[in-house]
Amino acid sequence: SAPSTDPDTVGTDGEELMQRYRTALTGVFGTPQRTLVRGEGVTVWDADGHAYTDLMAGIAVNALGHAHPRLVAAVTEQLSTLGHISNFFTSVPQIQLAERLLELSGAQATGGTVFFANSGTEANEAAFKLARRHGDATRHRILAVEHAFHGRTMGALALTWKEQYRAPFAPLPGGVEHLPFGDQDAMVSAIDETVAAVILEPVQGESGVNASPAGYLEAVREACTRHGALLIFDEVQSGMGRTGTWFAHQNTQVTGGARVMPDAMTLAKGLGGGIPIGALVCFTEATSQLLTAGQHGTTFGGNPMATAAGLAVIETIEHDGLLEHVSELATAVCDAASGIGHVQAVRAFGGLIGIDLDVEIAPAVVAAALEAGWIINATGPHTLRLAPPLIIDADTLRTFLQQLPALIDRALTATETKASS
Ligand code: PLP
Repeated sequence: SAPSTDPDTVGTDGEELMQRYRTALTGVFGTPQRTLVRGEGVTVWDADGHAYTDLMAGIAVNALGHAHPRLVAAVTEQLSTLGHISNFFTSVPQIQLAERLLELSGAQATGGTVFFANSGTEANEAAFKLARRHGDATRHRILAVEHAFHGRTMGALALTWKEQYRAPFAPLPGGVEHLPFGDQDAMVSAIDETVAAVILEPVQGESGVNASPAGYLEAVREACTRHGALLIFDEVQSGMGRTGTWFAHQNTQVTGGARVMPDAMTLAKGLGGGIPIGALVCFTEATSQLLTAGQHGTTFGGNPMATAAGLAVIETIEHDGLLEHVSELATAVCDAASGIGHVQAVRAFGGLIGIDLDVEIAPAVVAAALEAGWIINATGPHTLRLAPPLIIDADTLRTFLQQLPALIDRALTATETKASS
């Protein structure tokens, strides 16, 4: 029988099954994982009935939190009306979501198109193909940036920076060079007629929440236009309202006030609010035509359920004023975090928050937080990341930050104890 999802009964009904899961996952993640069984709003419960406040939203995915009634209703209704159809056909939610994305990005006015996929990685694979199609024998370089994360399939991995992820799979698809992120001179002087595309995250997520310096995106845009290279933004993590604007490249904190339009942009994560989906948004007709039918295609990409979920996410963000709400969270976080011992820097862009510590204990803080009922994340030894559901209230974040000094103390003690044993 199916495992119970009721935290009160799962401990008895599903105990053996959960134990098997834990053992299996130990091999995958290296440490025993807690098995989560239920979520509602910003709270999730594990199989033992412990409650956690979710400040990660499944890595910037659950924009509306867990089990949001509008999302549940949209997906349920869609599945009971029209489920899977394959890419021989289109469907009403698919067309509507494509239209909404073009409208929100401003690409509708310039003849844009949306190609759907099932994840951020897959959307970036499509972007890689777009770059290759734009290129030729002489226009063969693709510029990415250091500390970038774009996914782990072969093409996406070629764009991703971390050597640790890349090395075992060499040789990766060629032509990709990584330049220092935010170094305007380095990027602008590297762009010439041999460059097919530049791809970057307007706000890097996996590197610990680092935004482009003001004016950087504008300068890169100008150089790409001048030399005929495509500019592609990976907004998989930073898009869909996460930074307080629909897309981070529309955020004046990130652009320095300039209007910067890419030639293409990839989305996933928050777009489905928890249902897998990805999208490559092409901003112009010419860019859209680089990929024809058959050059991008997937069985599930743009399926009715996922696109109905995307529409529900967009409608709820609009209906509940979540962009404005999220913008205010950043100020609350910065205020509450100032003066906390061992906190060196806070970078908050709406609901995408990086906290640098002056000691290498971020993973131990994550563990201490989990024990205390908070789900947070570390992107490196020094850096904590928060990417809560957009619906979270500022008081919940303030409460976490009030507890952070105690969590840091616990992490310091745990790290010292480990070092001395
Ligand atoms: N691009 C960025 C900026 C990401 O942060 C991620 C995931 O963290 C990806 C791409 C990969 O997306 P997915 O895990 O949906 O394949």
